[in-house]
Amino acid sequence: MLVLLIEDDPELSDGIATFLAGQGDSVVVESNGMAADRLLQERKFDFVLVDVGLPGLSGYEIVRRIRERRQSLPVIMITARDALDDRIYGLDLGADDYLSKPFELAELTARMRANSRRGSNAIARRIDFGPLSMDTSARHASLADQPLILSSREWDLLSALAEADGHTVPKERLQADGSVNALEVYVYRLRRRLEPAGLRIRMVRGFGYRLEISTDVADKARRDANS
Ligand code: CA
Repeated sequence: MLVLLIEDDPELSDGIATFLAGQGDSVVVESNGMAADRLLQERKFDFVLVDVGLPGLSGYEIVRRIRERRQSLPVIMITARDALDDRIYGLDLGADDYLSKPFELAELTARMRANSRRGSNAIARRIDFGPLSMDTSARHASLADQPLILSSREWDLLSALAEADGHTVPKERLQADGSVNALEVYVYRLRRRLEPAGLRIRMVRGFGYRLEISTDVADKARRDANS
């Protein structure tokens, strides 16, 4: 794996880089947050290890930008802080996992293995539901063979509904930011684009939402299949 290690403590980065190189990984070390953000746009890394406190750009901001660019590579945050809030904040921004300093190098590789497995599962995933098709590795969606451009939040919502394959998804699972109003806004925006293609987001009152294929579209598909 080509690993980008973003860490400004030279002793720690030397230790991690030597250890990972000994395991057969190629490691690029960068101590400045801005420079690391540039590297991430220039080269294709398989894995990112990023410290929270960095000169130039914080680790949080680096993670936020990685996900904003729809880069799907696994990211582990290295945090000196013990506060649970800081860790949750990193995960909310799109980090896959975190390690608190000090940690054992064996712990680091165990977490890296677990998270790259999860990453490669995601690469194989393709979600199809009626006229909707979502490729989770490329983050590319199409509706009735036309590209469907989705924001990150819309992507999460629609992929959760499509993956449930017609079953109702509880509201709690869909509202990542904890706000019911925001969820309703996203559902409304998605509906306007899905309905012309024969997909409906049905609300199950007091419970959640599910994705359905409109019956007239389903009937037409059946007629086409029989003709
Ligand atoms: Ca630091």
